[in-house]
Amino acid sequence: MSDTIAALATPNGRSGIGVIRLSGPDSASIAERLAGTHEGKLLPRSPQLVRLHSAVNEVIDVALITYFAQPRSFTGENVVEISCHGSPVVLRQVIDLCLGMGARLAEPGEFSLRALANGRIDLTEAEAIRDLIDAQTSASARQAVRQLDGEFSHRLQPIKDALLDVIVVLESALEFVEDDLPENQTESVELRLSGLADSVGRIAATFEAGHLIREGLRVAVVGRPNVGKSSLFNALIGSERAIVTDIAGTTRDQIHERFTVEDIPVSLIDTAGLRETSDTVERIGVERSRRTIADADLVVVVLDALEVFTNEDRRIFDSVRELRHVVAINKIDLLTSEVRKANIAAAREEVGLSASLSAISAKTGEGIDAFKSAMIEPFSRADSSDTGFLVTDARHRDLLVRAQSDINESLHLFGQNTSEEIVLIGLHNALRYLGEITGETTTEDMLTRIFSTFCIGK
Ligand code: GDP
Repeated sequence: MSDTIAALATPNGRSGIGVIRLSGPDSASIAERLAGTHEGKLLPRSPQLVRLHSAVNEVIDVALITYFAQPRSFTGENVVEISCHGSPVVLRQVIDLCLGMGARLAEPGEFSLRALANGRIDLTEAEAIRDLIDAQTSASARQAVRQLDGEFSHRLQPIKDALLDVIVVLESALEFVEDDLPENQTESVELRLSGLADSVGRIAATFEAGHLIREGLRVAVVGRPNVGKSSLFNALIGSERAIVTDIAGTTRDQIHERFTVEDIPVSLIDTAGLRETSDTVERIGVERSRRTIADADLVVVVLDALEVFTNEDRRIFDSVRELRHVVAINKIDLLTSEVRKANIAAAREEVGLSASLSAISAKTGEGIDAFKSAMIEPFSRADSSDTGFLVTDARHRDLLVRAQSDINESLHLFGQNTSEEIVLIGLHNALRYLGEITGETTTEDMLTRIFSTFCIGK
């Protein structure tokens, strides 16, 4: 039998109302004692306006108490929600009183963990609550709600069922059949396994678009000094955050700024540049830039339209050409249309036909909107799923990829007439990985790790 936990479910600080949530066997009795004896017993699912009393029987607030009797509550236990006035002093007092009456302060995510333990939600739904609360854009909130509504689990269930069916066929072959499986059964197992690997792979592939919606695109801006990186940075975020100067090499620190393009959060990293330098401070900056660039989802290479592809430009471009990149030719406001054309054509020769190349002016804003779309274009195309449901969590993607690879491995072994016993190992593993996504086969350690990313009161 678990103990009773209490926590503030709304943010700290002053607000119209503040909600304290209790879950566990003593929730109702604690709330009844807070309300005072004359209020009588709490009725489930009917909010009651009560006076909350201190230990010396002073009224500390007039509050609305809602009681959810087990198992019809969020956690599956007795739950009480006390909606007080949002005064930090009152809320502190009420929590202290609850603790004084035997409740314990909840750990981060402990309400959701209890909901999971009592089968009220599965792990993907618990994670969706966290993601919904943390969502930065309406697109990521939308994905979180779909997951919260059980969509991910519903998509996985038929796959798990089908995998189990194949396992049963192979297990019974192992038990009852002396000889090999009949040919028609062999074909059917092969077909089913390759279909399953495809289905799992297709869901995993939605992560490329999904993780961008949740975590955003990390974009590093590179280019030789004075090509207008800081100016472009400012033009993109529409503020004067980065310092723009005429002296080369002043952007020593990496500056991060976030903005959204078509609902994708973009965090822009203005790097210290990639040039050779003897200045120690700058050298550290350059080293840091290299790492940032390697970790980025996209590199923006900025060129100066007056002088496209100097040796230094070429060196910088060569160091990032293997990474996903887009090229911006800046300062086109300074050129006549003929020179523009000639310089853009010269740059095109260098970057190759398939590269994304935009002509912009960070100063006048010309071409900036089109350039923003060019930045996210390769990523919005990644949304290949027919229904728009996306995997947004790296944990889920990893498990899907592992499941897919184990199914493929088993399929390969099966094709080589390996004994069912060996083929089954991979299939059981795949089933376990899929179960870990929804929490059926997740270890205690893993659960602790996942729930430590939740906030208190959730
Ligand atoms: P960084 O060293 O690459 O960060 O370059 P800055 O953003 O500091 O810009 C260097 C100089 O170029 C500054 O004097 C800017 O005002 C100027 N500059 C930047 N972008 C443009 C542009 O699009 N057009 C014009 N005419 N000047 C620009």
